[in-house]
Amino acid sequence: MPGIQNFKFVEEFIPAIGSGELLLKTLYVSVDPYLRGKMATTHDPFEIGDAISSKVISEVLESNNENFCKGDLVIGYLDWKEYQKSNGSGLMKVDPGGAPLTAYLGVLGVTGLTAYFALSDIGQPRSGETLVVSGAAGAVGSIAGQIGKIMGCRVVGIVGTDEKKDLIKRKFSFDEGINYRAVPDMKRAIATVCPAGVDIYFDNVGGEISDGVLANLNDNARVPVSGAISNYNDMEIPNGPRVLPLVVYKRLLIRGFLIADFASRFDEGRKQLLTWLNEGKITYSETIINGFDNLPQAFIGLFEGRNEGKMIVRLL
Ligand code: NAP
Repeated sequence: MPGIQNFKFVEEFIPAIGSGELLLKTLYVSVDPYLRGKMATTHDPFEIGDAISSKVISEVLESNNENFCKGDLVIGYLDWKEYQKSNGSGLMKVDPGGAPLTAYLGVLGVTGLTAYFALSDIGQPRSGETLVVSGAAGAVGSIAGQIGKIMGCRVVGIVGTDEKKDLIKRKFSFDEGINYRAVPDMKRAIATVCPAGVDIYFDNVGGEISDGVLANLNDNARVPVSGAISNYNDMEIPNGPRVLPLVVYKRLLIRGFLIADFASRFDEGRKQLLTWLNEGKITYSETIINGFDNLPQAFIGLFEGRNEGKMIVRLL
């Protein structure tokens, strides 16, 4: 489990910009579970001592780059810094008239697109099927559940508090919720609320919660594996039940993905999500923490369930 002691605040001068460069002022920072993986020795790790980076929305304060003007709002993978320079590569302009700015870090950003592509392409929902979503009150899960409802599924969400259980039913139209902290036996809890079994399991958390859901899958069920946050802080992955026999005789499709796999279709996904948002068919929650100094605590809070919907830090 990361702690505050793993982070260091460093003061620097605001950089001068050269030819083709921009000076950016950070407005909003996305904190995300995948950053934990980059703090370990897995894929493309952060270097100890370097600034952490994630999706950031910034304002252009000065520009020597013909593609950007002073006052433009941009989004991109940027450092956790109050001010920084950029050569503009990888930055996308954000239209503040299209949707609230922070939506581009959540429902219209990586987490909304993850919900959309993983559910529609891998989950392939059909009307009348039962969809179970773990991490259901989070940024990805809350959108995945609502898309499942649009597709005509009966949707059950798994969350970590009774407040979140109420939230997913009241705000995100889930049919049922399970507080995993309040049930001693997840396999039985799922069997009770899913009497017809589970056709699609959208997995955000892994671990024992997923063991309980997998045991209730129907023949030909699909399992988009988005993440396994319950294991991100484990030094060794604990053994669980062996699921391969189940995969064979139930003809299961269990498929992992990285949202970057769908990059060529992001415009399509964003357009669909914006349409549903404007039609009132989906809605979203955000937990916005104020202050650059609170970035580490906001990130750590993801592993303590302190967010409803997208966790974002706003710089004052
Ligand atoms: P999030 O769900 O908004 O925030 C994390 C939530 O996880 C917490 O609020 C907490 O909710 C739950 N959680 C934390 N520790 C847990 C544990 N030990 N057991 C069960 N639940 C736990 O985060 P997100 O951004 O939407 O991401 C959700 C998942 O999708 C993550 O696994 C992430 O890595 C993955 N993801 C994958 C891709 C991809 O390309 N494959 C892209 C984006 C996100 P509770 O209070 O309900 O426990």
